[in-house]
Amino acid sequence: MESEPEKKRFLTGWHEHHAHLFLGGARRRMEELFETEFPDFRYWKIPLVKPASEEAIGRVNAWIRECFLPAVKFHDWRKLSVQAALEQANADGVSRLEASLNVDFSRLGTERLLREIAEVHAQTAPDLELKLDLGFVRSQSVEFQAECFQTFLKTAERFPELGELLGGVDLYDVEDAALPENFREIFQIARAAGLKLKAHVGETGSPEVIRHTAEILNLDEIQHGIRAGESKETLAFLADRKTVLNLAPASNRILCLFREEEIQERVRAIFDSKVPFTLSSDDYLLFETSIVEQFQEIASIFSEDEQTQIRKNCQNL
Ligand SMILES: [Zn+2]
Repeated sequence: MESEPEKKRFLTGWHEHHAHLFLGGARRRMEELFETEFPDFRYWKIPLVKPASEEAIGRVNAWIRECFLPAVKFHDWRKLSVQAALEQANADGVSRLEASLNVDFSRLGTERLLREIAEVHAQTAPDLELKLDLGFVRSQSVEFQAECFQTFLKTAERFPELGELLGGVDLYDVEDAALPENFREIFQIARAAGLKLKAHVGETGSPEVIRHTAEILNLDEIQHGIRAGESKETLAFLADRKTVLNLAPASNRILCLFREEEIQERVRAIFDSKVPFTLSSDDYLLFETSIVEQFQEIASIFSEDEQTQIRKNCQNL
């Protein structure tokens, strides 16, 4: 039988590398804070007939547009969303949270925005280490987002205590909406600023696209990247450059990208190729699956020693 300290070590201390700041709260808690109802994404049907682009990530975007944005119109929605996300991370035993927010939130004033987040962080989860990833949206203007990024960097330089909050950059949205080449310069600037380089790729995109994106953007980490498990060459490439995959199996399952056993096969191949990976909730508000629960979803295909290795990676990487 496991002792209490062993159990605690098993259930806490996660480093969550892949979350979206304003979508990280538990749905019930968000409903309390916003005094409204948020439809359960897992059973949500898109109203009206929508084009195929509303599948998978498109369905996430549609839920945000139809269910989230109309409910969060009032002025302190960001603070309440961050509060809910940090409360959820605490409840899930996360000790370090790396969460993204769109870089174009700079329009609200970067100093004000970062102070707001720092204030909620200090009030809600002072013991949790919080790092923000500035997120670039593939389908939006590169030039505009580059300007937004510069305002964040200037604020970080002017107020080092706010700069401390910035941990990395991320790239997301429909994977073929833009070539990674478009964002190469921005990622080079981010590297020079000491930020970690991440991008969402390989959730739907092929192993070749994963490899190409990692090369062009010089990625440290990949959000999802589960499809790397389909190609020995891509796995060898990622293992060689020690690229970390921040997997979110529950997100893949709920978006019906793969069947459960297909997810397990890919995770097994990733592990066997020695590509380091972590587990994350992605969007807890939508997928409602904690890191521990995701760990349990894949645990049955691994031996106890292998499970220990995976758990340590999720706590140390
Ligand atoms: Zn994500």
